[in-house]
Amino acid sequence: MARIVMKFGGTSMAGIERIRVVAARVKHEVELGNEVAVVVSAMAGDTDRLVGFCREASSLYDPREYDVVVASGEQVTSGLLAIVLQNMGVKARSWLGWQLPIHTDSAHASARIETIDTEALIAGMAAGEVAVIPGFQGMGADGRVTTLGRGGSDTSAVAVAAAVKADRCDIYTDVDGVYTTDPRIVPRARKLAKVTYEEMLELASVGAKVLQTRSVGLAMKEQVRVQVLSSFEPPTDNVTPGTLIVGEDEIEESEMERQRITGIALDKNEAKITLTEVPDRPGAVASIFAPLADANINVDVIVQNIAHETGSTDVTFTVPGAELARAIDALTKSRDTIGYVEMKHDTKICKVSVVGVGMRSHAGVASTMFQALAGRGINIQAIATSEIKVSVLIEEDYAELAVRVLHTAYGLDAPEAIEA
Ligand code: ADP
Ligand code: ASP
Ligand code: MG
Repeated sequence: MARIVMKFGGTSMAGIERIRVVAARVKHEVELGNEVAVVVSAMAGDTDRLVGFCREASSLYDPREYDVVVASGEQVTSGLLAIVLQNMGVKARSWLGWQLPIHTDSAHASARIETIDTEALIAGMAAGEVAVIPGFQGMGADGRVTTLGRGGSDTSAVAVAAAVKADRCDIYTDVDGVYTTDPRIVPRARKLAKVTYEEMLELASVGAKVLQTRSVGLAMKEQVRVQVLSSFEPPTDNVTPGTLIVGEDEIEESEMERQRITGIALDKNEAKITLTEVPDRPGAVASIFAPLADANINVDVIVQNIAHETGSTDVTFTVPGAELARAIDALTKSRDTIGYVEMKHDTKICKVSVVGVGMRSHAGVASTMFQALAGRGINIQAIATSEIKVSVLIEEDYAELAVRVLHTAYGLDAPEAIEA
């Protein structure tokens, strides 16, 4: 017998027919004698619709009320799944975020989970009752509903798995694992049997939305055994048909040696800002990023160009596209302190990143990237690197082409395309 957490994403929960398929899957695990907690997303598209209502209601909405609205999608699916399970003869009940409770901080719309009260939950599971928990939601210190940021149900699942000390956390989605890149962009992407926490963290943070970044960080910290697998394929005797997220020690050295690059990710949600003729003196760059940090805006790729003869320099960086208006506002207010001449911005850009722990032992990864892109006439606007990642900023029109070209250049193409 094992204790498992199963998480089902929006596509898997979209409509009663699919919820029945999910319920059958849950029943299968219960019949194997496992203790089960299920974490569910809202039906695909519902959270977008709810976010749209808030924006329509007011452009400057109260984030506490936004959370009340957007958390409701998961309330619906958790209740529906419990009903369907009961109808199939499986004991089940829903546990809303405030009922467990899942305690979070009070950063509405991007709250962090602090603790989860598990006593009643574990008692219920041990008594053979499936716990159905809406993902994405929690409760702040003041008792109000909070949400964890888009894609946050993955994090709910990992947090529940850590709290109940689950043997496995299976993340069921609409693809059958983590691929070398988004299989919707490159049909010849390869499924990875295993990927390290560190690589998955990097891939998620640069745009591979198959797992929310925070969920991977939490899994790494709490050593939760996470698997990504398809909810559309029937269960088999193999308990790990998908992709396992593992520690580096579980990857054979030979496997790591073989591939320089593990995966490629694309992020179209960034915007580029350039400040021209910033005075080239100590403290100038700090004066740009301080107001952005104060406004809680994350800055990513940063380039400072060579100083002009006039003793000034141009500084380029990216911010999340959704934060562009706030970033412009903060930088406009700080114009006198920073001392730039002009502020330019561009949303028609994207970031393409190659990631792999093999990079540590192989030279020439960046050079292959630059040559492959140059070969297709794709201009690189900025570059950022980490120990296991190289990212470039390019024009958005070339996004998919760049991913395909790089996938081939690093020898990642599978012999045959996967079915669409
Ligand atoms: P869910 O609703 O189940 O949470 P998401 O839409 O958040 O599902 O994530 C699954 C999607 O992630 C896939 O449909 C796929 O298009 C995308 N994706 C991006 N990068 C990858 C990758 N490297 N491997 C697999 N899927 C990826
Ligand atoms: N429903 C939420 C979203 O769409 C959370 C999730 O599905 O993970 O962002
Ligand atoms: Mg998701």
